[in-house]
Amino acid sequence: MQLLDGVLVSAHIKEQIKQEVTDWQAQGGKKPHLAAILVGNNPASEAYVGSKVKHCDELGFDSTLLRFPADITEAQLIAEVVRLNNDDNIDGILVQLPLPDHISGDSVINAINPAKDVDGFHPISVGKMVLGQPTFLPATPYGIMLMLEYYQINTAGMNCVVIGRSNIVGTPMTLLMSRNTNPGNATVTMAHSKTKNLKELCLNADIIVAAIGRPKYVTADMVKPGAIVIDVGINRIPDATKKSGSRLVGDVDFDGVAPLCSYITPVPGGVGLMTICGLMKNTLLAAKLRTNAVRGAALAQSN
Ligand code: NAD
Repeated sequence: MQLLDGVLVSAHIKEQIKQEVTDWQAQGGKKPHLAAILVGNNPASEAYVGSKVKHCDELGFDSTLLRFPADITEAQLIAEVVRLNNDDNIDGILVQLPLPDHISGDSVINAINPAKDVDGFHPISVGKMVLGQPTFLPATPYGIMLMLEYYQINTAGMNCVVIGRSNIVGTPMTLLMSRNTNPGNATVTMAHSKTKNLKELCLNADIIVAAIGRPKYVTADMVKPGAIVIDVGINRIPDATKKSGSRLVGDVDFDGVAPLCSYITPVPGGVGLMTICGLMKNTLLAAKLRTNAVRGAALAQSN
């Protein structure tokens, strides 16, 4: 069994991003600037946004964190998004999900200028992804593809089961793994809460991507020997041996499953770190595309 090591791969990719930012600035480009919107004070969301802002610092990006109270109205939040759309200094906008129940996440995401949609959740970005056109890919599936690429895992022709059909993980992961790319070219089954024969499907899978949100749900009796297991889940479970009284586990029963696998991601230290890489790569790309569009327009005007 080989560990798919998010610490190692993300460090490698972050070095590449840092270098790219330095080169970009040497060519007269400006620092990429990410704006993050956080509504309310959900502790998990606080932690995720905090980590994204910290990574901006580390990689030489600018960042702006906008915090709003949980009772902000949908119209007010959309007005903030529009303000960021119109702010030339901002290259990427992310709205940390979930939003409070009285706000439609779809309406807020739809308000983001697709040129700044670094989470890849806007319908234009999703549509382009479906059509295989260049676009911002959702950060978690993008990060998983980067990890498979790093380990040079040839997934062509493999049977892949993606468990989960969310817009942010399961659905885009299913699409990316089935595209005519490498990694990709897999025969993909998307399983979900109404799937009846999950165990049978998993036992036939060369790759399992678990994005369920249930601690240790994928157990050894569901995994074919030699399979590749990608664990997206982040679940907090009680653990009296820890100072905090809890610890993080994935959707896969790591101790039981790992000995069977050819490759497996740990939790923590796996997919979560790759997600950050996906977001940062998208933000750098947004900065470059926006600057090049402005330069192109200026050039066209001067001709
Ligand atoms: P979600 O709740 O939106 O979706 C969960 C999916 O699991 C649903 O599509 C549902 O149909 C499916 N499901 C639920 N019970 C099932 C069952 N018994 N059998 C088969 N399928 C079942 O969750 P999400 O946003 O996709 O996140 C999934 C997990 O990944 C969570 O633990 C979340 O915290 C984690 N996550 C991690 C990262 C990361 O960077 N590592 C990023 C996003 C989400």
